[in-house]
Amino acid sequence: MATRPSAGVVTVMRRLAKGIARMELPAIEKISEERTGDAFQVLIGTMLSAQTRDPVTAAACTRLFGVARTPTAISKLSAKRIEALIYPVSFYRHKARHVIETCRQLVERFGGRVPGDFDELLTLPGVGRKTANLVMIVAYRSDRHICVDTHVHRIANRLGWVRTRTPDETEAALYAVVPKRWWAAVNLHLVTWGQNVCRPVFPRCGSCVIRDHCRRVGVVREARA
Ligand code: SF4
Repeated sequence: MATRPSAGVVTVMRRLAKGIARMELPAIEKISEERTGDAFQVLIGTMLSAQTRDPVTAAACTRLFGVARTPTAISKLSAKRIEALIYPVSFYRHKARHVIETCRQLVERFGGRVPGDFDELLTLPGVGRKTANLVMIVAYRSDRHICVDTHVHRIANRLGWVRTRTPDETEAALYAVVPKRWWAAVNLHLVTWGQNVCRPVFPRCGSCVIRDHCRRVGVVREARA
């Protein structure tokens, strides 16, 4: 459920844009930057990244794409081989099967290309709203999507922008709260802030540049200064 649109949203986004300038990029943005926006590698990287730390995702992508970097090449690998390449990402067995089946469908249904259409992306195995939104934003430079992962969900609630129980609810609520020109930036800004400052446990509120715009909903303990 959305609360009221916050007049401070734009201020927060502008401050975060400056605040994250010297911070390391999240794994998928880094993959996109290093691979010049390769939609296929962004898609597979995002599938692997679920509930997995960024360094683990990045290393798994390097190993996998070092062996095979196209849907055709990966679809020819065995599930066991992919499992070994992506281990220790979480749910690596499950993800290996989704990666193979997605690659097969990309070859058979889309001529080996990643569709630049949100609804078509959702038809691929293992691709949910988070992955489809991120591919649209990062690989296809769409400004019509907001990608919500666990960091965005947590911080949007702490800030008081939304009052929601799930990332999907948060995504729906944020479209009403965040001005459209900032939609595509929400993920990069809040994920980077969530990895460095507004961490799940012991957020660094004392050194947070948006503290005066944050209601700190649900924060009971913060990191010592
Ligand atoms: S003030 Fe604390 S809870 Fe609010 S965004 Fe900053 S680190 Fe997160």
